[in-house]
Amino acid sequence: MAYGKRIESSQKINLKDYDADDDGGLDKEAGIAKATALGKELDELQDLMFFAGQHSLLLVLQGMDTSGKDGTIRFLFQNLSGQGCRVAPFKVPTPEELGHDFLWRVHMQTPKKGQMVIFNRSHYEDVLVVRVHKIVSDETCKERYELINRFEQLLARNNTIIVKCYLHITNEEQENRLLDREKEVEKSWKLSVGDWKERELWENYELAYEDAIGNCAHKDAPWIIVPANRKWFRNLVVIEAIVDALRPYRKVWTEHLEKIGETAKMELAEYRKLKPLRKK
Ligand code: AMP
Ligand code: MG
Repeated sequence: MAYGKRIESSQKINLKDYDADDDGGLDKEAGIAKATALGKELDELQDLMFFAGQHSLLLVLQGMDTSGKDGTIRFLFQNLSGQGCRVAPFKVPTPEELGHDFLWRVHMQTPKKGQMVIFNRSHYEDVLVVRVHKIVSDETCKERYELINRFEQLLARNNTIIVKCYLHITNEEQENRLLDREKEVEKSWKLSVGDWKERELWENYELAYEDAIGNCAHKDAPWIIVPANRKWFRNLVVIEAIVDALRPYRKVWTEHLEKIGETAKMELAEYRKLKPLRKK
């Protein structure tokens, strides 16, 4: 059973219909045990994907401030080999980036075959934060949904497995997390007045997310709405979504690697015929 809600076709989204507190009926201990088991599977699958070099994985992480993008990445890396896996964070665009179309900087960061890349924020900021701050019009956003869909389709056609996760927290949970940050002296570097100012725009962000998710969901590039008020459950839902996306390819990758192995064995046998091992 999938714990996250999968959106894979255009539809009207109302985030209030999704329970950010959901725990899938699990207690924390059981949830962590499940996530640990999935972590082992992810490690294996990523290894196969890396060596087979036929597909890539793009994980997009989006969510309001404090929704847990950084925490999710830290958790995922407990189960990933650094080989073939990296994070691409997207910040306020530089003048150089702004001189190009909005997908330019994004396209450069997409994974090549064998690789897995985690987007910490993404091209979706260009229909979220810029819409909320009225830097671009609603009309431009509509145009961008279409461009994003085509862009993701291009990636999917090039064997990129795409998983997009919206980390869903409630307004109250965000307030608690921001207040907690103020109490944690060693994390004061995380404090920002900006976070409180953005919080005032919560409803606008919610609306922008609903439109972005509802307009940019496809079978090849689905959104997973991840209940994220509980961090352990959020981790479980994200890792499950990735493993579910990779698992169908296990056979293809294994067979491909076996074929490579057969060829290597044959080549070595030919070589040995010419150059037998010296008897010891
Ligand atoms: P953080 O993820 O906390 O490091 O913050 C990155 C900041 O960059 C956030 O406030 C984002 O809204 C902002 N950002 C990311 N992409 C864009 C974009 N395309 N346009 C404007 N702001 C962006
Ligand atoms: Mg932030």
